[in-house]
Amino acid sequence: MKLIIGIAVLLGLVASGAAAKAEEQDWPPPAWTEPVAPFRIADTVYYVGTKGIGAYLVTGPKGHVLIDAGLAESAPVVASNIAALGFDIADVRYLLISHAHFDHAAGLAELKRLSGARLWASRGDKPALESGHNEGRPELPPFPAVTVDHLVRDGEMLRLGPVRLRALLTPGHTPGCTSWEMRTGGHRYIFACSLTVAGQKLTGDPAYPDAAADFRKSFAKLERRQADIFLTFHAEFFDMKEKRARLAAGDADAFVDPSELPRRVKDAEQAFAREVEAQAAE
Ligand SMILES: [Zn+2]
Repeated sequence: MKLIIGIAVLLGLVASGAAAKAEEQDWPPPAWTEPVAPFRIADTVYYVGTKGIGAYLVTGPKGHVLIDAGLAESAPVVASNIAALGFDIADVRYLLISHAHFDHAAGLAELKRLSGARLWASRGDKPALESGHNEGRPELPPFPAVTVDHLVRDGEMLRLGPVRLRALLTPGHTPGCTSWEMRTGGHRYIFACSLTVAGQKLTGDPAYPDAAADFRKSFAKLERRQADIFLTFHAEFFDMKEKRARLAAGDADAFVDPSELPRRVKDAEQAFAREVEAQAAE
């Protein structure tokens, strides 16, 4: 019996070792930094991220807002995407951040330098942004620290000429995970922070003891929201590639789907429940 368990453990180790190696070779995924041509999603909202990591430019006559920055090496890509669309990065007045992990926040310092914009972030993620350490994920690579200029409160409205973005704190993935809502051109937008369990301990983590409770509150909060256009910060989590192809083929409403937010939240909730169970069984 012992031998069988021993072999199983060994096989398990070998298998996970191989998987880890394959992951290592491909990590961070090349798509995260691979450039793609920027494009208008709809109205005044543009995709300026990379193939795998979302960054959004919300434009207006009094200046623009940039949401998320991608990896450090993506900052010049985001900057050149903004220029390619005909906008001046010096007109970006505000930088917003979904959450303080390197794949979204590492480019902030450089984009802040290039634009001179003010960075708005929530209290929960400020320490990570200002230290360059990934919130709750010490194994992730550190990133250039960046100063937060304004602490965002739940429900707070950013106003820039006609541009209005409302903060919706949706912690869980990190303590300061922030989603943003906006209305323009007859569409309700949501820029949703990540809803996945980030390889984190959901209960009993001294660095973030309320993670599980926060996730549950954020799911409940998002279930009460409505959006015509659901955007988030990993391209595969909102089928960016497929929608973009439909947009290019002439479907101006390719990104419009009021059923997407509730569907994505439900999927995330189910994945979260499975993770809670798996962690309880450990
Ligand atoms: Zn993350």
